[in-house]
Amino acid sequence: MIKGELEKILGAGEVLLQQPMSQYTSFKVGGAAEHLVKPKDYNKVAEVIAFCSARDIPLYVLGRGTNLLVSDKGLPGVVIALTDNLAKITVAGVKIIAQAGAPLPKVSSVALANKLTGLEFAGGIPGSMGGAVVMNAGAYDGEIKNVLRRVLAVNSQGELVTFGPKEMELAYRSSAFQHNGHVVLEAELELAPGDPMAIQAKMNEFNRRRREKQPLEAASAGSTFKRPQGHYAGQLIESCNFRGTSLGGAAVSEKHCGFIINRGYATAQDIYNLILKVQGEVEKKHNVRLMPEVKIWGEFIEPR
Ligand SMILES: Cc1cc2nc3c(=O)[nH]c(=O)nc-3n(C[C@H](O)[C@H](O)[C@H](O)COP(=O)(O)OP(=O)(O)OC[C@H]3O[C@@H](n4cnc5c(N)ncnc54)[C@H](O)[C@@H]3O)c2cc1C
Repeated sequence: MIKGELEKILGAGEVLLQQPMSQYTSFKVGGAAEHLVKPKDYNKVAEVIAFCSARDIPLYVLGRGTNLLVSDKGLPGVVIALTDNLAKITVAGVKIIAQAGAPLPKVSSVALANKLTGLEFAGGIPGSMGGAVVMNAGAYDGEIKNVLRRVLAVNSQGELVTFGPKEMELAYRSSAFQHNGHVVLEAELELAPGDPMAIQAKMNEFNRRRREKQPLEAASAGSTFKRPQGHYAGQLIESCNFRGTSLGGAAVSEKHCGFIINRGYATAQDIYNLILKVQGEVEKKHNVRLMPEVKIWGEFIEPR
């Protein structure tokens, strides 16, 4: 029924059923999405969103799935994935316009190729342009907020809306898009002319630091928790003796306590349980509530 209606918008064969979210997320866990669609243009995105919101059908917007924990029970409704078809990157002088599905490392390397500085920090962040806007992704000396000038988005009625920097409410790992129900379609970034050798050297240095400090060989969603004010999540977690602690197939990384990793056989529930356990112990010992940076989708069992 939903499939038929979506096919009227997107065309026959364009609605994937029961897609395992473990194949779409960097944690490599998560049950099946009831419907998954990959619209080919902005109008189709808008129509899908308007359709879902008019019928009260749950809608999940998927970037590259690098900041997501999806329930083993899967997701009812519709997952809209932007990475396959909406990934164009255009350069105009010192500006880059990237569609939401463009991989952020690619946007960063396009900046380098065009001798533009300001996106070196993004070279090792594995998300999409849209996900980076929504999360105000950042690392080392930068964050998206510093370079983002305009966003084209679509609201729940399917109308296109342009956002300037103020309306986006960009703050540490946060933006208006996390609560306003809009889907980001494209971002306009303003960079500055730079020396390609210096840009490349900075990117290499950031990548070296990442490889040295982070468990890039394991499945994860990056830092599991946001940095609490005045503390580092990893240090708080380590002080509670969690380094290397596992629960089912999930573990606190040996290499970096701020990362929860999938040892290869974790369920989403294992990861969820470990998040709660870490949160509980850190709060007990330090009176600091760690807030997940990772977005949690679907239903989980609350452990007693
Ligand atoms: C190894 C590793 C290292 C990482 N390092 C960093 C780091 O240094 N800094 C950092 O900030 N993050 C880091 N991350 C986390 C992650 O890459 C970022 O949060 C990234 O911005 C998420 O983008 P995504 O496309 O994967 O989003 P997803 O995980 O697909 O989605 C994240 C959230 O954004 C929403 N969303 C995605 N696209 C859109 C859109 N177009 N419109 C509306 N909503 C959308 C989703 O609905 C969801 O709520 C790391 C992750 C990994 C696995």
